Amino acid sequence: MRGGIDLGGTKIDAVVVDDDDRVIGEARKPTPTKGGPAAVTAKLAAALRDAAAAAGTEPELLAGVGVGSPGAVDTRAGTVARAGNLPDWQEPFALRRALEAELGTRVRLGNDVAVAVEAEAALGAGTPYRSFVGIWWGTGVGGAVFLNGRRWRGRGNAGEIGHTLIKLNGAPCPCGRRGCLEAYAGRNAMERRAARAEKAGEKTVLFKLMRKKGHARLTSGVWEDAVSQRDRVAVRLIDRAIEALGAGAASTVNLLDVEAVIIGGGLGTRFGEEAAERIAAAMTLNLFRRDDPPAVHTTALGDRAGTVGAARLIRTARS
Ligand SMILES: [Zn+2]
Repeated sequence: MRGGIDLGGTKIDAVVVDDDDRVIGEARKPTPTKGGPAAVTAKLAAALRDAAAAAGTEPELLAGVGVGSPGAVDTRAGTVARAGNLPDWQEPFALRRALEAELGTRVRLGNDVAVAVEAEAALGAGTPYRSFVGIWWGTGVGGAVFLNGRRWRGRGNAGEIGHTLIKLNGAPCPCGRRGCLEAYAGRNAMERRAARAEKAGEKTVLFKLMRKKGHARLTSGVWEDAVSQRDRVAVRLIDRAIEALGAGAASTVNLLDVEAVIIGGGLGTRFGEEAAERIAAAMTLNLFRRDDPPAVHTTALGDRAGTVGAARLIRTARS
């Protein structure tokens, strides 16, 4: 048995899987909003212990635990830096060593989106294809590229589709530049935009729904509920995000001519088939070869792509 943890900006998901990647225990905890890397590490360990208990085992008995992390992950050094959505986490923190001490088993780190898309490639919507692009639409917009059956790593940072330029001198992006896809489609950027609209006097249920659900952020579930109530601000910002995602996906397809585009991430999973269809339509408008568009799918593993993918870091290390 192996453990897998998906470290997100709002929640921590942990699973224990068997040799065939079947989930036999899982647990979820909210991501701490303060206390820095130490508080997050303690919560990661707690989530994994709960998942292990649900699987009828203990962390020490696992072959290892993989962690999909946001930020700048140095897999060799076992550190994570510049995780902007986590509390006080700018400097490199030795997450692997800290978690190994907590759990008593070996730990491997990976990029959160890369491990999720690897799982889709091996077990999910990517299995029929030799080449595809995964676009993970959530807090930010992440991605990964598969060419000839393998993930294209570039010099280590390939796949940052969220920072492809879709508008010169456009909206400010959390990365510090302007006009990136993420500046239009990332949940953080959309939240800032919604707050500004409300402040300017527009009516929206977004923040009321957020408080009612007891959240501090506009989660994917809040966006979904607001859209289903036809909230005008929510509908407009989601429409804008989909248009931006279509432009970014089309640029990538024009360059690489992949067989398929797979949409995942928090918002991508929430809006599911509808998101895939609408992004496909928005993409087609911008394709150089409109008569021959690639297939567009939603993630097959859904919310579990991140955790099951993280657990596969352990298998990868062994084989
Ligand atoms: Zn950017």
